[in-house]
Amino acid sequence: MYQNQSPQKLSDQSTALTVAKFGGTSVADFSAMLRCAQIIKNETSTRLVVVSASAGVTNYLVRLSQSNISSEEQREIIANIRAIQLKITQHLANEVEQSVNAEIDSLLDQLAIYALKQSEHYTVKQADAILAFGEQLSSRIFAKVLQSIGVNGAYFNVQQVMKTNSLYGKAVVDIEQLKQASNALLLPKLEQQVSVTQGFIGQDGLGETTTLGRGGSDYSAALLAEALNADHLAIWTDVVGIFTTDPRITEQARAIKEISFGEAAEMATFGAKILHPATLIPAMRQNIPVFVGSSKEPEKGGTQIKQKVESNPTYRSIALRREQTLVTVKSPAMLHASGFLAKVFSILAKHELSVDLITTSEISVALTFDNPSGSMQALLTSTVVQELEQLCEVTVEHGLSLVAVIGNSLHSAKGIGESIFQTINDTNIRLICHGASANNLCFLVAENDANHVVEKLHRELFA
Ligand code: ASP
Ligand code: MG
Repeated sequence: MYQNQSPQKLSDQSTALTVAKFGGTSVADFSAMLRCAQIIKNETSTRLVVVSASAGVTNYLVRLSQSNISSEEQREIIANIRAIQLKITQHLANEVEQSVNAEIDSLLDQLAIYALKQSEHYTVKQADAILAFGEQLSSRIFAKVLQSIGVNGAYFNVQQVMKTNSLYGKAVVDIEQLKQASNALLLPKLEQQVSVTQGFIGQDGLGETTTLGRGGSDYSAALLAEALNADHLAIWTDVVGIFTTDPRITEQARAIKEISFGEAAEMATFGAKILHPATLIPAMRQNIPVFVGSSKEPEKGGTQIKQKVESNPTYRSIALRREQTLVTVKSPAMLHASGFLAKVFSILAKHELSVDLITTSEISVALTFDNPSGSMQALLTSTVVQELEQLCEVTVEHGLSLVAVIGNSLHSAKGIGESIFQTINDTNIRLICHGASANNLCFLVAENDANHVVEKLHRELFA
């Protein structure tokens, strides 16, 4: 089995291996890239670097991957992407600039061909091929920026190792193949160089480009760290770690120094948009500590996420997720019957909808769905509702927010009623979920009450 094999290591056993991931804002422009390069230079254990596309580029590519687009708009978008990248390379030495610009232009020529084909005949496969250009560009450029400060950085095409299935748009990685290929093709390179590779993208068995879903670079980095049995995973972003709550809601929010995998995974799922929700899964499997910090202010430190932490407070943080939809299904047929829930869930599964919270009573079940506008994930559509209506009575409520109080042993803690519900007793709580996880207690409130609730709770629990 994969977990039981003892993975290879860099031949110098004393050298720890850190995989570092730099997000879109960290590679947005030349000075941002330079700061990241300096972080790598200072932290010599960083041998593998995973980058996102420069900020804004993936959004342009998303537009380019759609079919209802004029050739004029296509040209404009490609010119904008080119401008973002050339503004970076202009700071490199002349010959380097020229050679990397030639690579950029050749990639953009290919991109233009894909975009044209896509506007004539849309396919999801082609959409992924288009989306992958952002990381292909930024990784090539970043390798040169590293070299410019004397670090032996080299571009590595992640598609050699990140093998996936053909579920374009949200491809599933073959972890066993990734492990074997990384150890054969990537690990030996890390002896002599800092490899710079792409997050977010992969390759299927047909040799076609795939993507892992928006924000997937964090997950790519975690998978690579796992495959290489790295000692650390560093996620460099634009915030100085994970906060007790969204600092835009309350000024009292503060960065958390240390947090356990379990708690951080809850936070990633319940709205703290800092990490891609799947990021911690590979890190937890291989017990690799994860650091989250700001590449703008590395001196401020960040958050350490690991298996064992020094303190396990009852309350660690409050996450807020907006745009929740609550669906209540009610059927008298459910009374003393079995199999009703299975039917409901098979409809949801067919539409690839994922349920977050559930509460049930004898003849009704309430389910929440993340329903963000403009998202690429499956959404609760009228078709789904109609199918459910064949089965039972269905009520749909929008305009709700999910508040998740995250911490430790919450299922066995005393005084929760007073600390949490007493504090917000001026607010209607539409639904509560408690007891399934030791690490969270979740409830739904009206969208309009959400900020107020979080602010009040934060004052009570963290002041
Ligand atoms: N560039 C991709 C995106 O913007 C992947 C990532 O940055 O994680 O979604
Ligand atoms: Mg991200």
